[in-house]
Amino acid sequence: MERDKQIFDIIRKEYERQLNGLELIASENFVSNQVLEAMGTCLTNKYAEGLPGKRYYGGCQYVDEAETLAIERAKSLFNATWANVQPHSGAQANAAVMMAVLKPGDTFLGLDLSHGGHLTHGSAVNYSGILYRPVPYTVKEETGTVDYDLMEQIAAKEKPKLIVAGASAYSRDWDYKRMREIADQAGALLMVDIAHPAGLIAKKFLNDPFPYCHIVTTTTHKTLRGPRGGMILMQEDFENTWGIKTPKGQLKTMTQLLDSAVFPGVQGGPLEHVIAAKAVSFGEALTDSYKEYIRQVIKNAKVMAARFIELGYKVISDGTDNHSMLIDLRTKFPDITGKQVENALMEADITLNKNMVPFDTRSPFQTSGVRVGTPAITTRGVKEDVIPVIVDLIDEVITNIDNEKTKTGVRQKVNDLMKDYPLFAY
Ligand SMILES: *Cc1c(COP(=O)(O)O)cnc(C)c1O
Repeated sequence: MERDKQIFDIIRKEYERQLNGLELIASENFVSNQVLEAMGTCLTNKYAEGLPGKRYYGGCQYVDEAETLAIERAKSLFNATWANVQPHSGAQANAAVMMAVLKPGDTFLGLDLSHGGHLTHGSAVNYSGILYRPVPYTVKEETGTVDYDLMEQIAAKEKPKLIVAGASAYSRDWDYKRMREIADQAGALLMVDIAHPAGLIAKKFLNDPFPYCHIVTTTTHKTLRGPRGGMILMQEDFENTWGIKTPKGQLKTMTQLLDSAVFPGVQGGPLEHVIAAKAVSFGEALTDSYKEYIRQVIKNAKVMAARFIELGYKVISDGTDNHSMLIDLRTKFPDITGKQVENALMEADITLNKNMVPFDTRSPFQTSGVRVGTPAITTRGVKEDVIPVIVDLIDEVITNIDNEKTKTGVRQKVNDLMKDYPLFAY
């Protein structure tokens, strides 16, 4: 068959965009060649509904080996005792958990979307807000940090079945111990979605949620630096605590409920080529070199936040504990929106995303903020000495937002700078 020049030309252009640009989207990263390689294999041909050793199709002996390896590596990475590596994405992992522990109409708490939460934590346009009854908690205006006292009050009043911790745009660590106390008082389960900081948690640079959270969900493609996908994890303590009786009187453990919520609950056949690539990335994440990478991600983020603050920007919560930060443009540029900044920077080959800031006065389509993160540039080998240079380039574009010559000039500098960095340095 003839090679599909049309699509491979498009892929080539995307490769060059990634190579020449400065990637600051906090949820993105670059995978290693062996992760890419595993994804592009014949494992995509295989149907494997079910779990290793318990499939609905024949010929699963090798994908069983691959999936078992992915599960074992995921468990050792997080010190967990159970993992389901089949969710196609973070959203699917969360859908499965909610399906396992909630009934339609049940109340759960999640961080408000405009305060850093995720769509799947109760947005009105998402299944989580359509099927269930989400009640949001928020951050405090003065500090930009999660308001646990408010969360406690809301939980006492609303008696949710589930409390969801975790966020997409929140630069501080979480108090899982406090949240577990709040959950216990309300009779709720506690789930944390570590989609963003998973790699930082795995390498112990942030609080460990496992001793406190009944269920942990994550993506595999953000700081974890694997293929696009999701997974669900648990620690033994909680594994058999929440037996639920089926109509026939059978007792189901939480892990059984979660497994069947993933398949057949919300998914069909697992993506075994992606699961093999997950196994590869978990193997990489178990190494010391990945730990050094994560250490550098955090160092770069701290230097970045400090430089933004030095230049007069408001960084929500005045800094970062992790790989990301949320910048409120209103202190320095009250008339410029996040959307304008995102577009202007794109012309300069710098990619980040507009983002609502807590107590935003603009709509989600305009926004008063942008979100920035260091996982991707750190994978390329950027160290902390170059970070202020990058922040200054961003500031130059925003300061001259309507000046085409500035944008062209910055783009040239960005392209020159990135020539020194491969897509995957370590
Ligand atoms: C990115 C993210 C997800 C969703 O991941 P997808 O793979 O895009 O579905 C879920 N939760 C949080 C907190 C996230 O940041």
